[in-house]
Amino acid sequence: MSPDSPSPKIELHVHLEGTVRPRALLAIARRNGVRLPAESEEELAALYSYRDFAHFLQLWSVTTCALRTERDFRQVVVDYAVEAASHGAVYLEGIFSPAERVAGGSSWDEVFSGFCDGAEDARARTGVEVRLTCDVPRHLGLDPAFETARYCVKYRDRGVVGIGIGGPEDGFPPEPFAPAFRQARDGGVGSVPHAGEVVGPASVRGALDALGADRIRHGVRAVEDPVLLRELADRGVVCDVCPISNVRTGAVASLDAHPLALMTAAGVACSISTDDPAMFGTDLSADYAAAARLGWSARDAYDAGVRGALCDPATKERLRVIGDGAVW
Ligand SMILES: [Zn+2]
Repeated sequence: MSPDSPSPKIELHVHLEGTVRPRALLAIARRNGVRLPAESEEELAALYSYRDFAHFLQLWSVTTCALRTERDFRQVVVDYAVEAASHGAVYLEGIFSPAERVAGGSSWDEVFSGFCDGAEDARARTGVEVRLTCDVPRHLGLDPAFETARYCVKYRDRGVVGIGIGGPEDGFPPEPFAPAFRQARDGGVGSVPHAGEVVGPASVRGALDALGADRIRHGVRAVEDPVLLRELADRGVVCDVCPISNVRTGAVASLDAHPLALMTAAGVACSISTDDPAMFGTDLSADYAAAARLGWSARDAYDAGVRGALCDPATKERLRVIGDGAVW
């Protein structure tokens, strides 16, 4: 590694549909005949300014619906792996939301095979190891959750390693999703729900107890409950923290007010990610730099990433060797 190369990075919390930069999204929408609420890169970038989390979710729906075909799904994985590699990424767990893509007219198999083919292509082109996890939008209810669980298990040997819940956290607690998560976990798929981003400790508690969370996406509001925070640390549950996302959606008031420092001081291992880099105007280096400003170094974030990664033991060991051999 040359002295100018970026340090190696692991990203465990990135929504592939939210990685598509404005130019590529406009091109995809055009070829699919989908009308976006903006017609130029500038207009699209200007839309990505959010009043609150609900407003962000609204923009998410009207832009990500442009992704319709296997070719789109495959392309977004490869494009993002190329981008992330330029920031030093060696391992990604990319999220996609199959139930939303199916609602847009694709079949479940088209969605899964598109993303899985993309992960394979991305590895061949960039050397970045890509695994996939699926999100169930909470407001869609249990039926899509069961279907998502079933397909996660079906595509497990193609790199699908986890299932989560996302979307509106307020009003949609984790507990009702327990049976679908049990089905996925019985099939060897990990549990990686969003929790503790918009709602407080009760949401994180539900994710741990009802969904058997292996990791928590965000989890930042766990700092409001010292007992819960200690439990996350003692059990070694990694939280996938996205500092810039939290500022952009208003989940935290400012970067300086971000709870990352409190979490890590309590001994919680926090991986660092971008969440939706194209929609939050961020990238992997910027989020790692934000974490460093909060006292969590690139090495700390990398080690938490290795600990939390849901890949096979041999890949995990390779990641450990990369970390030990890097210049930090
Ligand atoms: Zn997320």
